[in-house]
Amino acid sequence: MDPWIVISLGLAVTAIVVAGIAIRNARALTRSLAANRRLRADVSQRDDEIAGAAAEQAVLGEAVGSGIVRVDRSLRVISANAVAHTLLGRTPGTLVGRSVMEAFLDASVESMAQAALANGTARTEVRRADADGPMLTVLGRRAHAGGLWLIVDDVSELRRLQRIRTEFIDNLSHELRTPLTTVSLLAETLSREADGPDVVLPPKMRDRIGKIEVETGHLVQMVNELLDLSRIESGDTLALVDGLDMGRLAAQSAERLRLFADRQGVTLRVEAPDGLPPVRGDSARLGQVVVNLVHNAVKFSPDGGEILVRADREGADIVTSVQDHGVGIPRDAQDRVFERFYKVDRARMRAETGGGTGLGLAIARHVVEQHGGRIWVESSEGSGSTFSFALPVAGNGDH
Ligand code: ADP
Repeated sequence: MDPWIVISLGLAVTAIVVAGIAIRNARALTRSLAANRRLRADVSQRDDEIAGAAAEQAVLGEAVGSGIVRVDRSLRVISANAVAHTLLGRTPGTLVGRSVMEAFLDASVESMAQAALANGTARTEVRRADADGPMLTVLGRRAHAGGLWLIVDDVSELRRLQRIRTEFIDNLSHELRTPLTTVSLLAETLSREADGPDVVLPPKMRDRIGKIEVETGHLVQMVNELLDLSRIESGDTLALVDGLDMGRLAAQSAERLRLFADRQGVTLRVEAPDGLPPVRGDSARLGQVVVNLVHNAVKFSPDGGEILVRADREGADIVTSVQDHGVGIPRDAQDRVFERFYKVDRARMRAETGGGTGLGLAIARHVVEQHGGRIWVESSEGSGSTFSFALPVAGNGDH
């Protein structure tokens, strides 16, 4: 074949191949340009969405009544709404860039923030560091993107009303105590005299005197418990001792109610190993907690029921519990039983144990929380309840 023809054919094939490659490249380029355009549109849409969300967050942040402060991992303020500036007594816009310590001027907020970073959430209450400054609660919550949200609320009015309520109950109880004690003593004397050998009384009258004595006893108990509660609530100082053996205290306190339990036909069992690690606490107050729990357990147990009082170590705590097999507590009432005066159902209690004041568990909760502990109930209706409280082991707990 003519060499020119071969060369021409070769050139033609090369041209076709090159053209093919060029066309493919052009298509790839078009595709990548289109993808690039889509990506840019996507990014700009996301930017808009983020800006929109940030704007809405800012609107919400200004609309709520709470102070909202966002801090980064090193506890420096990234943003703060207007309420936060007002509550902390700052001119608008001056909080960003400050440390938590500079913003709140209180070391307890800084420790709370450290605790919230470590555990996810923590709370503290502080008075703003100027004369007559408001009482503030500060709730720290770990943020998804690192750092914390600090929610600040003014609770001055709430605390003022609580103080008025406590003082009112305290005054009223003091006023009631003296005449009630007199009435109670008179009722007791009357009842004793009515039982005298030469006294002939119609049975109805004897019965009424007995009822007056019982009901006055309840009133005296209620007034005493109200006074107790208001003393505890107003921060009455605890007589703390270091080496308190909760096992021994639980056993001794349960023993105080053995006679009462026997009379109701209820068996009382105590399981408390010797030599539990000590807790730091007020033995009279903690003893009162155990007595209140055992007293309730007897009141709500059936004839022949058994109550188990236990104390044992669980992790860093000593947990004391009182278990009964009585009527139990409906689920929706379980949180409420620790409120003052709350009673699940007045008709459920054993009649012969007398009424209750509805204050025993409120007192128990206050005492336990004053000790840095917590109290809770596990219960199912018809099969019984277990009330437990946990107190931290004193010192380093190496016992
Ligand atoms: P109260 O003087 O009425 O016993 P508490 O504060 O001790 O007051 O208890 C509040 C309420 O909780 C009781 O009235 C009762 O309804 C319920 N409760 C407490 N302990 C028990 C228990 N062990 N079993 C069933 N219900 C209980």
